This record gives sequence, C-alpha cells and structure tokens, in this order.
Amino acid sequence: MNTKHLTSTSPDQTEAIAADIGRRLKGGEAIELISDLGGGKTTFVRGLARGMGSHDRVSSPTFTVSKVYQAGERQLNHFDFYRLHEGGMVAHELAEAISDPHCVVVVEWAEVVHDLLPAERTMRLHILRTGEDSRALTLEYPPELAYLAEAL
Ligand code: ADP
Ligand code: MG
Repeated sequence: MNTKHLTSTSPDQTEAIAADIGRRLKGGEAIELISDLGGGKTTFVRGLARGMGSHDRVSSPTFTVSKVYQAGERQLNHFDFYRLHEGGMVAHELAEAISDPHCVVVVEWAEVVHDLLPAERTMRLHILRTGEDSRALTLEYPPELAYLAEAL
C-alpha cells in the first residue's frame, strides 16, 4: 500500500486536488472517503466529477444513498451509506457498478459495504479537519492505482 499526504486550505483546493485525480481515472476504480461530517467528502466528489468531465450537479446523496453523474461514456457512481446499518438493495447496485469498467465508484461511510470494495482497485482517502478551512488529506492506494496519485 502506498501513502500520500496532502494539505488543503480551502474547499476550492480540495476540489482541485480531486479534479486532478478525476482526470486520471480510467473507469473500474473505487474510492472510499473517510472523514467526520463536514470533512469535505462531498466537496471532493464534486471535484472528481468535474475532473472526469461531468457537468452534472453534485450534492450529498445522504437521503437518496446513491447518485450517478454522467461523464462522456463513463459514469461516476456516488454512494453515501451514512447511518445505514446494512447495505441492503443499494449494495447490489454498488456491486454492479464495481464490476462495470465504465464506472468509477466513490463511497462515503463505506463500513457496511467494505467487503464489496476490491483492494487492488480501491483508493482510500482520509480527510482530517485541522482548522476552519484546513484539511489534512491522506491517500492510501495499492501499486495498481499509483497512476492516480503519483503526480499530485
Ligand atoms: P462531508 O461530505 O464530509 O460531510 P461536505 O463536503 O459536505 O463534507 O462539507 C464540507 C464543508 O467544509 C463545506 O461547507 C466546505 O465549504 C467546508 N470546507 C472548508 N474548508 C474546506 C476544505 N479545505 N476542504 C473541503 N471542505 C472545506
Ligand atoms: Mg457528504
């Protein structure tokens, strides 16, 4: 597992870092986002979608659990399992998206669906709030996903 530490001092910077990653996504990858509420997970997804070339509006899927953003022939599947104790039907949708090479899957609060995320295709981002506008970002990724992060 590789590790990369970055800092962000604004929501725009978090989005820009995510957009850099988004531009490199090929499809078939999964990204797990870990932080407290308000850490910046959804902000990060907004940048990811932009980097992938999507013009769709990104907002928190908390009450709908999953959302899909179109990005040309690819799509970004955004899941948020906040407060869910089991993946339920949405876990099937997640498994389907993960097996589709045109899909990139990004998951907030993934604990209940951990077993579905393939280790060799999953990047994990921890966001730690270090101040009002500052965040410490830690990326963990397998060597197979080095192309996403090595130039950051
Ligand atoms: P989460 O999805 O983790 O609950 P959101 O992305 O919805 O978090 O909210 C993050 C909040 O923190 C937003 O109000 C955003 O403007 C604010 N914020 C302040 N500084 C940053 C930063 N450096 N990166 C990301 N968000 C930030
Ligand atoms: Mg969120």
